[in-house]
Amino acid sequence: MAETVLVTGGTGYIAGEIIDLLLRSGKTVHTTVRNRSKSEPRLRDRWRDAGEALRVFEADLENDSGWAEAMEDCDAVAHVASPFPLKTPKHPDELVKPARAGALRALECAKKAGVTRFVLTSSAAAIAYGHPPGRDHFTEEDWTVLENPDVPPYHRSKTVAEKASREWVAQNAPDMAFCSINPVAVLGPVHDDDLSTSIELVRKLLTGEIPALPDAGFGIVDVRDVALAHVRALDAPPEAVRGERFAVSDRFLWMRDIAEVLRERVPDLARKVPERRLPSFVVRMLAPFMADIRQVKTELGRHRDVSGDHAREVLGIDYITAVDSIEATARSLVEKGIVDPR
Ligand code: NAP
Repeated sequence: MAETVLVTGGTGYIAGEIIDLLLRSGKTVHTTVRNRSKSEPRLRDRWRDAGEALRVFEADLENDSGWAEAMEDCDAVAHVASPFPLKTPKHPDELVKPARAGALRALECAKKAGVTRFVLTSSAAAIAYGHPPGRDHFTEEDWTVLENPDVPPYHRSKTVAEKASREWVAQNAPDMAFCSINPVAVLGPVHDDDLSTSIELVRKLLTGEIPALPDAGFGIVDVRDVALAHVRALDAPPEAVRGERFAVSDRFLWMRDIAEVLRERVPDLARKVPERRLPSFVVRMLAPFMADIRQVKTELGRHRDVSGDHAREVLGIDYITAVDSIEATARSLVEKGIVDPR
């Protein structure tokens, strides 16, 4: 079992939850951030009692500086950092290049440092996109179809990075216990106002910034289960995880279902949550002019159910329900003063 783990991207939503679990189970955690002087005080504030059990290093996915130091004395790596912007970039390379180069850099440095366990945070974005219409059930056997030009840049970046990582491991470190965790959209309690893109959706529903509900949806998994899957994959016998992909997902919900859950579970916070539907012909009409709407266009009417069964069976993940997770997201956004429900 790993005693010292590097978690990359310590400022991130998922990485924070992983660090939390690792520290609570007595591990020493190294983490990388892009700007140490800005981010270390925030991390120290969250884990006030961690002391020397938490070490913060400065490293960027796009250059070599700091990676060797961050890996020193580590037995295992959870590579979580990857660009996950709210806005779609002009060119896919803005995401694809750092995602791919960062994963390969982390793998190369891990091998040099003698790390034998590597858990990559990939995504359902590397599984369920670009497939012909009519397919609505996906498993770890499936790969996003990069040849389809409609696959958005972020989904492309996760697919390219995971494929490149697997090829690199097969050629350069076949004995490494490498696996990926592939979450669907991650919701759950937040700890500060630096919100992950997935949380923004619930925030915008609560504030009324999404005024009407398009006919789109996505799989949902709780951040606490995503972190647990990483930690279990770090601790499992190497033969149980080597080469595996673990999709983590509770269930798929349409946006109208999510809005309904908010109205039922947190009625006092849900006054601005829309009831109106946004007709698909309006989405198609507005898509060329509005970037936010454009992102939804390819999702209209698409049911993408990514099975979380393999992680349930091998890693023992007993999923927090999507409904509980939506409620926890909304309550924490209000508790942290990020959303004013009045
Ligand atoms: P997040 O809060 O935005 O975290 C992303 C992290 O990546 C941040 O720590 C960010 O650092 C770091 N990062 C981005 N570009 C970087 C670069 N060039 N160099 C170094 N670090 C960089 O998002 P998250 O939800 O926790 O996502 C974490 C991982 O989970 C990502 O790999 C994402 O693709 C994957 N994932 C997320 C979801 C989801 O719904 N949230 C679903 C499936 C997979 P800064 O703070 O400096 O920007």
